Amino acid sequence: MDSFDVLVIGGGPAGYVAAIRAAQLGFSTACVDAFERDGKASLGGTCLNVGCIPSKAMLDSSEKFEMITHEAAEHGIDVQGASVDVARMLSRKAGVVDKLTGGIAYLFKKNKVKSFFGLGRLVRQDGDGWVVDAAGTEVRAKHVIVATGSNPRALPLAPFGGHIVENSGALAFEQVPGKLGVIGAGVIGLELGSVWRRLGAQVTVLEALPGFLMAADDAIAKEALKQFQKQGLEFHFGVSITEVTQDNAGVTVTYQENGNAVTAQFDKLIVSIGRVPNTQGLGADTVGLELDERGFVKVDSHYRTNLPGIYAIGDVIGGAMLAHKAEEEGVALAEMIAGQAGHVNYDVIPWVIYTSPEIAWAGLTEKGAKEKGLQVKTGQFPFSANGRALGHGDTRGFVKVVADAQTDKLIGIHMVGGGVSELIGEVVAIMEFGGSSEDLARTVHAHPTLSEAVKEAALAADKRALHM
Ligand code: FAD
Repeated sequence: MDSFDVLVIGGGPAGYVAAIRAAQLGFSTACVDAFERDGKASLGGTCLNVGCIPSKAMLDSSEKFEMITHEAAEHGIDVQGASVDVARMLSRKAGVVDKLTGGIAYLFKKNKVKSFFGLGRLVRQDGDGWVVDAAGTEVRAKHVIVATGSNPRALPLAPFGGHIVENSGALAFEQVPGKLGVIGAGVIGLELGSVWRRLGAQVTVLEALPGFLMAADDAIAKEALKQFQKQGLEFHFGVSITEVTQDNAGVTVTYQENGNAVTAQFDKLIVSIGRVPNTQGLGADTVGLELDERGFVKVDSHYRTNLPGIYAIGDVIGGAMLAHKAEEEGVALAEMIAGQAGHVNYDVIPWVIYTSPEIAWAGLTEKGAKEKGLQVKTGQFPFSANGRALGHGDTRGFVKVVADAQTDKLIGIHMVGGGVSELIGEVVAIMEFGGSSEDLARTVHAHPTLSEAVKEAALAADKRALHM
């Protein structure tokens, strides 16, 4: 029987990063992953195959179309007869995914991580290690890392199938739906709804919560909602779905809104109401791996499960279901297994929604900080006063800094605007070092760049913004 120091079950961002880091640290390492795309093994999990990467490829393609059809004229560029070839767009997306998933296979080879394609199943304890069925072959490992990720949550009234799709289906429509319904106004619903709206679909978003992006800072959520509605996305909040039926022509959704029953017809319906942990086929019951009441693998602060030598990371342990959180847990855990001080700072995890405008935040919202009893000061700076944004022709949104009023420590950063996904990194780095709004305000930012709006927001927190 082959034997490894570390065996990782799941080759998504949590698992493949843990495997690479473990191998870098000198452990003999293997990874077993079951993801299959077009009948072939494809490393990278949800993120690379049907999540972060293909959604961003489609967002970029659709944004180019929107730019050509709606914004180019303002720059003096007239384009006649622009049209969309969905098949070519999808094939470009597949090319991006192939490149990146193939890249993980290359990295495994380079780092001598042995790769198994198929299900990984916990079989039994064996001395100070475990026997795992890795795609039909029993192997032994001293340390087993469960990184089996998550699956889309289904709505019992609207099971997936036919015209009712989850993320992978929504990234593969063969033509632009005329009318598209989206249940759930979270990150995934907003991104996928945006893709098809830009390509010509009439998009209606149905959300059970009473308000928009309730985890985001109020000012950011308000501005983003205004921009999305201006683009033609239609939102209904506080709705309760009562019936969903489908036939060849499409889907009929009946819901309660403000006490009234409303019926809506869609060609396609995306259900994006969250994700559930994936422990199917893992053998959790066989070995007694403890799950919580929602099915997440229970871990302590060192990612240790109730079973010695078995750890879990990524979406399957809950918390922020984000690829970068999963990756950092992979690095931290491999380092802890090696006796090092691996660490993830959960207080400064950036959240990004890749719509247009983009939304990005990290740390506490103004309201959240006040609820914690902190005295805060805030600074806000609009992109309409930023030279580069004006040059781009995209002055939507603003940057908002939240700092502790007594110590000036940066405790929150919130942005809505073009390209803010690339602006949040510097602030997260300053927050990671425990920096202040003064540190951000005194850092030299290149001119003209959008990042000057970040600096100005920090200056505004001390009422000394220069360009407003
Ligand atoms: P996964 O990526 O789900 O990987 C788990 C892997 O384990 C899969 O390959 C699965 O097949 C395999 N597996 C499961 N069980 C077994 C088993 N028993 N044996 C062998 N293999 C098994 N996050 C971001 O940070 N940024 C984004 O822009 C972003 N966009 C997203 C867009 C969409 C449409 C979706 C759906 C998600 C998005 N996410 C994004 C979330 C991100 O994809 C997840 O947080 C991330 O993939 C979690 O990584 P993971 O390794 O924990 O799990």
